[in-house]
Amino acid sequence: ARPDLRTILVESRAFGDRPYLVFEDEPPISYGEQYRRAARLAERLVSRFAVAKGDRVAIAMRNWPEWITAFWAAAATGAIVVPLNAWWTGEELHYGLENAEVSVLIADGERLASLQPYLDDLPALRGLVATRHDGTLPPKAVDWQALLDTAPADAELPDVAIAPDDPATIFYTSGTTGRPKGALGTHRNICTNPVSVAFTRARAALRRGLSAEDAVRPSPPGASIVPVPLFHVTGCHSALVTNTLAGNKMVLMHRWNAERALALVDREGVTAISGVPAMIWQLIESPDFSRYDLSKVVSVGYGGAPAAPELLQQCRKYFPQALVRNGYGMTETSSVAAMNWADDFVAHPDSVGAPVAVCDYRIVGADGQDLGPGEIGELWMKGPNVIAGYWRNPEATAQAITEGWIHSGDLARKDEDDFVYIVDRAKDMVIRGGENVYCVEVEDALYSHPGVMDAAVVGIPHRVLGEEVAAMVQVKRESRVSEAELQAWVRERLAGFKVPVSIVFDHEPLPRNANGKILKAEVRAIVQAAAT
Ligand code: ATP
Ligand code: MG
Repeated sequence: ARPDLRTILVESRAFGDRPYLVFEDEPPISYGEQYRRAARLAERLVSRFAVAKGDRVAIAMRNWPEWITAFWAAAATGAIVVPLNAWWTGEELHYGLENAEVSVLIADGERLASLQPYLDDLPALRGLVATRHDGTLPPKAVDWQALLDTAPADAELPDVAIAPDDPATIFYTSGTTGRPKGALGTHRNICTNPVSVAFTRARAALRRGLSAEDAVRPSPPGASIVPVPLFHVTGCHSALVTNTLAGNKMVLMHRWNAERALALVDREGVTAISGVPAMIWQLIESPDFSRYDLSKVVSVGYGGAPAAPELLQQCRKYFPQALVRNGYGMTETSSVAAMNWADDFVAHPDSVGAPVAVCDYRIVGADGQDLGPGEIGELWMKGPNVIAGYWRNPEATAQAITEGWIHSGDLARKDEDDFVYIVDRAKDMVIRGGENVYCVEVEDALYSHPGVMDAAVVGIPHRVLGEEVAAMVQVKRESRVSEAELQAWVRERLAGFKVPVSIVFDHEPLPRNANGKILKAEVRAIVQAAAT
């Protein structure tokens, strides 16, 4: 089969009555039904809004079933799908719509409301489809269901030739280190995900002693819970596209809630859980954990943000029958770029694993030279999963990509066996009196304290040293740990200059973005205010 999204949608039709999507308490949707909905919407996009190959169709929604239909329908017309971050304000959404020069927007009621003041300022927009709204629609908008009802019941996908290297998506990066950039991904870029996952899984199975035939045989269709937002590459490529290709059932959550997730895992017989590390922590820490039957779970995966090795130990304890894995990737690597799976992960608990089969990597020093095992430099990656560039942003592209090599902005080292260790984001590293302090290392030390639920380490200005190490921690409900105790705990594990000079305590979760990444700028402001 060709590596393009239209082919995946067309072939998924063969799964027929198999359950495709379970969303909260709504009736389940089968593969066949999903195909029919996508085909009807695609027909409307072309007939009603004249969507043609290369046009941009944006989705601005939380996780709703309509997000998924809109994605497949738009991709199958040959349009470039632009999933916008549903956590964005109206102004930020407007920026994305303008930047991508979007022709058709498919939005939910909440996004439509926040966009209201900006709708007249989008000259390229010729179609606006509204779903999950309260009935008050702007004059330009058409209701989702009303639109679908005008399509022929047996609509076929519009006839369009899509080549694997045609652009398929513009995903905006998380904006952790600056303004979000629009990563232009091709169909081939996206389709590397299922390949990488299948290959890594087969290798892990071989090492567990399975025969070659059993290792490569696709596992029986399972049920995956999808708690992450669909508008980032983890949710879209690694969850949505990969599960669709495998014929799995997806249990989609509208918004994250640990107790609800546990109940859904039990009710739907979920076999695979994956999310950002903070979600997995919250599942395990939930007072409801033991109330549910989680015995069908055979796979627990996390990634997208740094995770303390401690989390692996906890997962093995709480999900003893599951294989645990960690995945590393960026928007620019179309989700997964390295994976650490099962026994490999147990043997290298602080690594993100070896780069996936399709992806080459280098650890690059300050002068652009290749570094050897143990040396810390910037991680660069190249392969069919790496985007060719940012949408209409040649300066950013030239800065981030050299001859196909994406500069991750992550400091990393490798070992003799090609396992990669993410040391810190280059921009997060604290330089204290000339000594480098990697926040992740200090965060891991804090995490290992039994009273600590979550931790963020930042640099705060110091007159003489330049920067000082400071931290903010979320402590567990029952914990009574003090600042002095935590400092002593870190001092036992790390060099003295890495011990946070001041620690802010909180019982509430730390500020994070939709991808589970700590908002360091916010933490820095809080910690700095407390220190002065
Ligand atoms: P921006 O590029 O706009 O500043 P961002 O880099 O956070 O935002 P994403 O593309 O969503 O946007 O995230 C990629 C980054 O996430 C990686 O560069 C890395 O820092 C981090 N990351 C992803 N997976 C892992 C992991 N398993 N362990 C540690 N860090 C990870
Ligand atoms: Mg980035």
